[in-house]
Amino acid sequence: MDTDIPGEAVLIGAAPLEALVRDIFLAAGCDAEEAGRIARHLLGANLAGHDSHGVARVPRYVEWKEAGHVLAGRNAAIVTDGGAFALLDGQFGFGQTVAAQATALGIERARSHGAAVIGLRNAGHIGRVGAYAEQAIEAGLISVHFVNVAGSTLVAPFGGTERRFSTAPFCVGVPTAPPVVLDFATSRVAEGKVLVASQGGKPLPPDALIEPDGRLSADPRTLYGPYEKAGPRNPAGGAGAIRAFGEHKGSGLAFVCELLAGALTGGGCSGPVRERGRIANGMLSVFLSPRHFGDEAAFRRAAEEYVAWVKSCRPAEPGGEVLAPGEPEARLRAKRLAEGVPLQPDTWESILRCARRLGVPTPA
Ligand code: NAD
Repeated sequence: MDTDIPGEAVLIGAAPLEALVRDIFLAAGCDAEEAGRIARHLLGANLAGHDSHGVARVPRYVEWKEAGHVLAGRNAAIVTDGGAFALLDGQFGFGQTVAAQATALGIERARSHGAAVIGLRNAGHIGRVGAYAEQAIEAGLISVHFVNVAGSTLVAPFGGTERRFSTAPFCVGVPTAPPVVLDFATSRVAEGKVLVASQGGKPLPPDALIEPDGRLSADPRTLYGPYEKAGPRNPAGGAGAIRAFGEHKGSGLAFVCELLAGALTGGGCSGPVRERGRIANGMLSVFLSPRHFGDEAAFRRAAEEYVAWVKSCRPAEPGGEVLAPGEPEARLRAKRLAEGVPLQPDTWESILRCARRLGVPTPA
C-alpha cells in the first residue's frame, strides 16, 4: 500500500476529486455512466491506499483513449457460453466497464449454478482487482481472480534476469464481516513504486530489482535506464527487471496467472508489446456461492471465528497487530473519506493539466 505519501502531499476531498475525474472522462468522450464508473473505481483505489492504481492513472488513461488503445462505450461480448462457464472478449473497452460486466455475469451464473468460471480477454486496464472481488462479496460470493497483462513484460522469473512476466495480480475475496480481500501484484513491488522512487519518493527495498548480470538492485535506472529528473520514465529503457515476489513460490503464482488469464482466455500471455503499444488485461475468475455448498451461516461462523483467532496471535513487535487481508484498505478508506485523498503535487498537477487541456473547469 502507498500510505507513505511525502509530507508535501496535497489533500483533496474525495467527492470533488471523483467529480473532477468523472468530468475529465466525460470530456474525453465517455458517456456519463462509464465516466462515473471509471472515476469511482480510480478514486476507490486511492481510498484503499493503492495510489499506484488510482487517479494518478487519469492522464495515461486519457492518452490511451485518444490513441485508440482503449475504446469508450464497449461492452464485453460473449465468445463461449457453457452456462457455469463463459469466455468474454472485452473488445479493448475500458477495464472498469468490461471487468465489472464479467463479474456481474459470474455473480448471475454462480447464483444459478452454485459456481461459475468466467474468462475475460482483451480488457483495457482493469485497475485494482480487489474492486471486482468486492463486487462479488456484495452479492455474498467468494471469488478468485487470476490476472495478467498481455503486451507488458516487467518481471523476471525466479532464477532468471530477463523480463518474462507482467505484474500479474492475484486476488481472492471472501464474504465475511468484515470481508477478507487478498489482492496483490506478483511482482516484488508494483511498477508505480519504482516510478515513485525514481522521483525521489520512498526508496525501493534493496532486492526489488535485478540487473542483467544477476546483481540485485534498488536503483530505478535498472528498470528505466538513464532519465532526467523531471523527464518521462519508460520501462522499455532499462536493461533489468522487477523481481517476482516470494522466491520460487511467488514466481510460480505469476507463471500460472499468465497461463490462466493469458493462454486460456486467448488474450495472450505477457510478451513483447503487440499492436501499437496497446496493453490489455486478461482475467480468469472463479465465483463460488457458499449457500449452494452447504450451510452458509455455518461457513460464515467458521470463517469469522477463524479470522478472529488468527488476529489474536501475539504480535511480533511490541504494539504491533496481526491484520486480515483487506483490513489495511478498510481502515485507510475510512480515514481518507473523512480527511481527503493525499496526492503528490506532481500527480495533482498532471490531472489538472489533463483537465485544462480537455476544457474541464478545475477547482481553485
Ligand atoms: P500490496 O503489496 O499493498 O498488498 C496488498 C494486499 O496485502 C492486500 O490484500 C492487503 O490487505 C494485504 N496487506 C497489506 N498489508 C498487510 C498487513 N500488514 N497484514 C495483512 N495483510 C496486509 O499490493 P500491490 O502488490 O502493491 O498491488 C496493488 C494493487 O495493484 C492491487 O489492487 C492490484 O490488484 C493492482 N494491480 C493491478 C494490475 C493490473 O494489471 N490491473 C497489475 C498489478 C497490480
